[in-house]
Amino acid sequence: MLKRIPKEEVLAVILSCQDHRRPKTWTKLMKLLDLEAGQYYSPAFAGSSKTIAEAYRRGNRALYEFLVEQVGIGINHGGAGYLYLHHHKHCTFYGIPEPVREKKIQLEDCLTSYQLLSSEYPNVDILMIWEELLDITGSVSKFFVMSVEQVEDEIFRLKDLLAEGSCALV
Ligand SMILES: [Zn+2]
Repeated sequence: MLKRIPKEEVLAVILSCQDHRRPKTWTKLMKLLDLEAGQYYSPAFAGSSKTIAEAYRRGNRALYEFLVEQVGIGINHGGAGYLYLHHHKHCTFYGIPEPVREKKIQLEDCLTSYQLLSSEYPNVDILMIWEELLDITGSVSKFFVMSVEQVEDEIFRLKDLLAEGSCALV
């Protein structure tokens, strides 16, 4: 007879980038989200939710469905109630050197993915995490957990900054 494997309590799914610098700050992020090992699923794509937003924009239905399904494993099979979309500064897969423009484009992808994923998984709370790498090696980071409203406000702020041409101030 098969032994029953005790089911761990899965609380969240954290969709993040594949970035090689992530392990340096992962512990800090888990502490901030009050998560322990075994309590979350962590799918990682190149550029995080960029992949979902792009597959949708390009009309690549098969890729879009595959990515959404991958994100949903921890929700459908694990029972996670939270989904975090984690993006970070200096992302290789965006390759945008100007910080204001980079953040704006990443948050726009995040917002698109939020809208898509909230209709796919309506019973899950979705929040976004912006990781501000304070040095290029990724040794030090500051994390910002944002609601969809905060992401929308931040996109407006960044658009204004770009319109004023004051990127150098940020
Ligand atoms: Zn990245």
